[in-house]
Amino acid sequence: MSFVIKQYQEILDAINSCAEKADRPNKVTLLAVSKTFPAENIAELYSIGHRCFGESKAVELAQKASVLPPDIQWHFIGHLQSNKVKTVLEHASVIHSIDSLKLLQRVSRIANELNRNPQILLEVNVSGESSKTGFAPEQLTEAVELAKSLPNVQLTGLMTMAPEIASEDELTNIFSTLHRLATQMDLKELSMGMSGDYPQAINNGATIVRVGSAIFGTRSYL
Ligand SMILES: *Cc1c(COP(=O)(O)O)cnc(C)c1O
Repeated sequence: MSFVIKQYQEILDAINSCAEKADRPNKVTLLAVSKTFPAENIAELYSIGHRCFGESKAVELAQKASVLPPDIQWHFIGHLQSNKVKTVLEHASVIHSIDSLKLLQRVSRIANELNRNPQILLEVNVSGESSKTGFAPEQLTEAVELAKSLPNVQLTGLMTMAPEIASEDELTNIFSTLHRLATQMDLKELSMGMSGDYPQAINNGATIVRVGSAIFGTRSYL
């Protein structure tokens, strides 16, 4: 068995056992974050039945999508520049990283032109770090209302990233805050948790965890 398949299966087992402990068996989706890793690695996981992959660069997404099977479900998780919206919408069916009202409007307009209907999540900067993109919690109501009023986008949930270095208490605070916001806004999907913090995210209600390096290995660039 290859390294990637072995790691994938370990992560899948760990996720399922966290989800069971949190009393939410089978309620957590593993998004395999394949950014920077070659299409061959994706093909390996595809061959054992995995279909959801996350990419954070538009051009890289387009390149991989062009050489891989069409039934892969691509999720875009990176900062989305306005001039890349079209490329991303041609391939991704889920966008986790809607981080401004302007981007939201543009995604809706271009999705309409391309006859696409992506699921979208609003990215929330819960930790308040200035280096992070995303809506401040107090801007969310307006963003949710706009998203619900626009054609060709289906708002399904919220996404956040915890700081790279955070204590257990900080992680719990960030993930439980996102959970509370999603509940207030009546949104179902919570995209939170990465290689280093997915157990805490699942404990606090994550429905999608985005795991890259714990499956594919260390990335040599961002
Ligand atoms: C790279 C990335 C991940 C995966 O990070 P790992 O630590 O490798 O699991 C998750 N979410 C986003 C937004 C990312 O850019």
